[in-house]
Amino acid sequence: MDNLTKYRDDFPILQTEIYGRPLVYLDNAATTQKPQCVIDAITDYYLSTNSNVHRGLHYLSEKATAAQEGARQIAQGYLNAQSPREIIFTKGTTDSINLVAFSFGEGFVHPGDEIIISEMEHHSNFVPWQLMCERKGATLKVIPFDDNGELRMDVYAQHLSEKTRLVAVNYVSNSLGTINPVREIITKAHDAGAVVLIDGAQSVQHIPTDVQALDCEFFCFSGHKIYGPTGIGVLYGKEEWLDKLPPYQAGGEMIHQVTVEKTTFSELPFKFEAGTPNIAGIIALGQALSYVRSVGVPDIAEHENELLQYATEKMSAIDGLRIFGTAPLKTSVISFLVNGIHHYDMGTLLDKMGVAVRTGHHCTQPVMDHYHIEGTVRASLALYNNTHDIDTLVDGIIKVKQITGQ
Ligand code: PMP
Repeated sequence: MDNLTKYRDDFPILQTEIYGRPLVYLDNAATTQKPQCVIDAITDYYLSTNSNVHRGLHYLSEKATAAQEGARQIAQGYLNAQSPREIIFTKGTTDSINLVAFSFGEGFVHPGDEIIISEMEHHSNFVPWQLMCERKGATLKVIPFDDNGELRMDVYAQHLSEKTRLVAVNYVSNSLGTINPVREIITKAHDAGAVVLIDGAQSVQHIPTDVQALDCEFFCFSGHKIYGPTGIGVLYGKEEWLDKLPPYQAGGEMIHQVTVEKTTFSELPFKFEAGTPNIAGIIALGQALSYVRSVGVPDIAEHENELLQYATEKMSAIDGLRIFGTAPLKTSVISFLVNGIHHYDMGTLLDKMGVAVRTGHHCTQPVMDHYHIEGTVRASLALYNNTHDIDTLVDGIIKVKQITGQ
């Protein structure tokens, strides 16, 4: 079960001590730690390459441009996109979704149209669609989930109609861990004539991704949740759709020609990349994706699933502990509460034992509303976690129960 243990040494921060105890980092759904090769990629860029891209003829500018475009090809390969033109670098998942909500809304949504999302979306796949629907006079329809945390596919089928323009759902829920049946969701949306955006923020690091096999129009993820830096992410879009969408932000890099009267826009992907990009971040993201591929996503998935089973069994045995999100198809997230113990108290006391977990609504307030709770404690796994981490968490929960007399 601990066969990926050798990779722990790649992550220097895991040697940290918290309040004199070894760090047990179980907040990976919020952000993952970075391997040395990603940290080095950022430093090396500023030491040896720093220059603006695409504008200069000089040596460093060409080197920076080649490194950036190399990272685009790595991202293309990682997602199995058809072309690097389909890979847009954004600030992250939130930025990617806002781009599509704005551009698709401007170009293709009219009063009376409908957008479908689900009750288990992260706020960043919720609020941009709410705002877009308000702007365009469209209606937002929401697929509910059952108490296990599985989407009500029967209600989804009822929501779909000729009015549906776009369906936006997460592949994996960040607060429940459910792996959603995205292939089925996409096929049904296409049958209704709608396009689909998949929020892959919690799937790309755990499940092999093939956007051509999925056949979604848009797919997005954040670099920092897949061992890369913050402030960088990817929007994949089918080329035919990216070609049709109006630009989101305007400025340098995204223009073909500007005259006083009129502007024409760059080709893909630059039409959607206004301004100087996060060059170091892009290159380091490429490094992170290469790193994950070298470990192997199927091996990561197998390891994390074994750990998830192990953790679920041990935690379920704790008296008064309830897990939220018990779908048969889950990955890497355990949200829980213990009777009589506020999630903040649990999180604070675990922290004092060196265990980092997340507490609160996890930017999914509708999920909390579903269960009539304010928040949960969330432990989430990455490739470097091991059974010792889970044992420390479980011992910690039992200790918190003793301290609080529950
Ligand atoms: N969607 C999901 C499913 C997420 O888990 C997150 C991050 N928690 C986001 C979107 C937003 O990602 P970011 O903050 O990196 O833009």
